[in-house]
Amino acid sequence: MLQQTQVSTVIPYFERFMQSYPTVESLAAAELDEVLHHWTGLGYYARARNLHKTAQIVRDQLKGQFPDNVTGLIELPGIGRSTAGAISSIAFKNQATILDGNVKRVLARFSATEGWPGKSAVVEKLWLIAETYTPHKRIADYTQAMMDLGATLCTRSSPNCEHCPLMEGCKAFKQGNPQGYPGKKPKKKLPVKTTCFLIIKNSDGALLLEQNPPTGLWGGLWVFPQCESQEQLEKTCLKLGIEANSQQVEDVKRHTFSHFHLDYQPVQISIDNSAIKASQIAEGSNQVWYNPQNPLSLGMPAPIKALLQKHF
Ligand code: SF4
Repeated sequence: MLQQTQVSTVIPYFERFMQSYPTVESLAAAELDEVLHHWTGLGYYARARNLHKTAQIVRDQLKGQFPDNVTGLIELPGIGRSTAGAISSIAFKNQATILDGNVKRVLARFSATEGWPGKSAVVEKLWLIAETYTPHKRIADYTQAMMDLGATLCTRSSPNCEHCPLMEGCKAFKQGNPQGYPGKKPKKKLPVKTTCFLIIKNSDGALLLEQNPPTGLWGGLWVFPQCESQEQLEKTCLKLGIEANSQQVEDVKRHTFSHFHLDYQPVQISIDNSAIKASQIAEGSNQVWYNPQNPLSLGMPAPIKALLQKHF
C-alpha cells in the first residue's frame, strides 16, 4: 500500500527496473542476483524474487501467456486476492474486485465499518462491500479510481473530504469522524533480535560478503558474515578460516522489520591475505570478496550497503 509521496519516490527506480527488463522473457532469462541489484531503491526484495519467479513460470509453464483471471493469477508467486483483482480488472477488463490497503480505508470510511482490517471477520465484511460496489462497466477506470482515491484524497492522516466525489454518501464523513476508520491495529511490542556483522577487510581493502539462502530474511541478498554475539567471534573467524590482525567493535544499530527489531553490532576485522586459509575462503558460490572500487552487481539490504559505504 503506497501513499502518493511514496509512489513518486519509487517511480524513477521502477522505471529503471522496467527499462532493464522490458519483457517477461528478459526478466525470466536474467540471473536473480542481477534482478535484485536492479531492484535497489524499491525495498521489499521478496517482490523482486516473486517477479523473477513469475516471469519464469509464465515462460516455462504457461507458454508465455499471462493468466487473465483471478483464479489463475492467484497461483503466481506473490499475487494475492487483491492484486489478482487489480491485474484482472485493469489489464484484462474483467469484473474483478480489489481491496488493497488504500481501498480498505476508503470503504471502511464510506460504510463506517468498525474494527481493524487485519482481523478476518472485518476484512471479509470489507470484501463483501467491495464486491457489491464493483461495477460491470468501466471496470479498469473504477479500479484505478478507487486506488487513486485512497492514495490522494482519502489518506490515512488527512482525508480531503471537501474534494471527495464520495462525500455525499460517506458515513464516516457524516459522523464527522473519517479518521476513526478503519480501526487501529492493537499495539504489540516488537520483539528484538540481535546479531553481529563481521566486516572483514583483507589487505587489498576488499570486504567479505556471503549470500543468504534464497528464502527467509533478506533471502538471496548479500550480507556480512554474522555471529550471534561477541562471544562467538573467535569461533566464527575460525570457521571462516581467518585470523584477525585487529578487531574493533562499533556501536549497536537498529533496523526495524515489520515484525521485529534487528539490533546489529558491526565488528571491524582486518586480516592479512596470507592469513586466509585458501581452502576455506576461496571465493565460492556464496562468498565473495567485494571491492567497492570495482563493485559487483549484488543485491544488498540497506543496512549492509550503509556499512559498506562507511567502511570503504
Ligand atoms: S468523504 Fe472523506 S472519509 Fe469519506 S471516502 Fe471521501 S475522503 Fe474518505
